[in-house]
Amino acid sequence: MALATPIIACAYGELALKGRNRKMFLRKLINNMNVALKGEPVDSINHVESRLLVHLSDPGRAPEVSAKLRNVFGLQWTSPVVTIPRAEIDPQLREDLEADREPRLTAICDVALELTRENGGAAANFKVETRRSDRGFGLNSPEVSRLVGAAVHHGIGLPAKMSHPDLVVNIVVLKENVLVFTGKENAYGGLPFGSSGRTMVLLSGGIDSPVAAWLMMRRGSRPDFVHFYSGRDVAEADVAKIRELVEILGRYSPVPLRLFLVPVVPYEMRAIGVVTDNYDMVMFRRFMVKTAVRLARRNSCLGLVTGDSLGQVASQTMHNLGAISSDVELPILRPLIGMDKMEITAWSKKIGAFATSIRPYRDCCSLRSPKPILTARARDLLMYSSKMNLDEAVLEAVDNTVMEKIGGE
Ligand code: ATP
Ligand code: MG
Repeated sequence: MALATPIIACAYGELALKGRNRKMFLRKLINNMNVALKGEPVDSINHVESRLLVHLSDPGRAPEVSAKLRNVFGLQWTSPVVTIPRAEIDPQLREDLEADREPRLTAICDVALELTRENGGAAANFKVETRRSDRGFGLNSPEVSRLVGAAVHHGIGLPAKMSHPDLVVNIVVLKENVLVFTGKENAYGGLPFGSSGRTMVLLSGGIDSPVAAWLMMRRGSRPDFVHFYSGRDVAEADVAKIRELVEILGRYSPVPLRLFLVPVVPYEMRAIGVVTDNYDMVMFRRFMVKTAVRLARRNSCLGLVTGDSLGQVASQTMHNLGAISSDVELPILRPLIGMDKMEITAWSKKIGAFATSIRPYRDCCSLRSPKPILTARARDLLMYSSKMNLDEAVLEAVDNTVMEKIGGE
């Protein structure tokens, strides 16, 4: 028999820890799952004993549905599952226990065998892992694993291996059903998109900032994006690459994302002849941060996000980060601050941004003067800010900002 698996089981990780707010988190999570699965043959999504069961009317779509769910933040893993009603298991188990003989668990063993035959093609060994959320089941988890493991071994001769097996047969004992599955795949965990407040992400065309945005999205934040471009207008600036990066991040978002495009000319006009070359880079950063704060405030964002990583480039020394952050009215979140470039690059590849990020792009930061100071002082930034009239530059930049919506229909 080929097993039709019209149910995808999903587990949520951290959400289980949320006390009173758990309901709100779950509501958001289920809503986000529904959005991610729009157009798929989903009959219902049920919350059953800390698992979410997605019922499909067309089992043929199970692999696609599973793949889409893996991009929904808050989910720990997903798997197509076979469900066996407890009514098909319990009477036999009771009988066996009363007769004091080895429980047969026929219904579970049959499915476990079939799944192993179907999916264990290349596996040289296997293991059964059992979890019980119903303590009233007549057997404990190790007993179930041992019995089903023996049946699979006996049935197809595959040896069991406890550490790093090629194939894991999972069994979850719930009150009404037992789930059996072999297709468990990890999702990204985190918190449901939209459960942690909004942030304004400073997005450059590089590798780092899209990863920073993704990590904050995984913590439940809904991002808006701001990108600073050089050139007279958006058309001239060639921001196609930036739009593409936002589109890639949109794969993890249940809502269209917003991109604010800001000209850097208002800064440049006022900085020329006032800001010395060595301070140009940090002053430019300050302009970006101050402008981003204004945009954040107008759009209900509670913090900024950057792709800074300590010491990566001159603008990211402790001194300079400190000077740039002084008297900024919103928190600046820097999720990459302790990561090295190899780790960041690995994330970039994993989330699908790398190929776009490495395409050539003339970022306005690469146009700043070379040899920036490594030990900027906050009071010097204040001095330059008032000399060049930074506030006015910020206002003019905000006035000339264009907003685009990316993704959605
Ligand atoms: P990335 O950090 O994205 O790989 P990068 O390393 O070239 O690009 P840096 O010069 O390290 O960028 O800039 C540090 C951070 O400043 C970026 O991660 C980003 O958050 C912000 N930033 C830099 N340039 C821009 C820009 N043109 N528009 C918006 N934010 C920017
Ligand atoms: Mg960088």
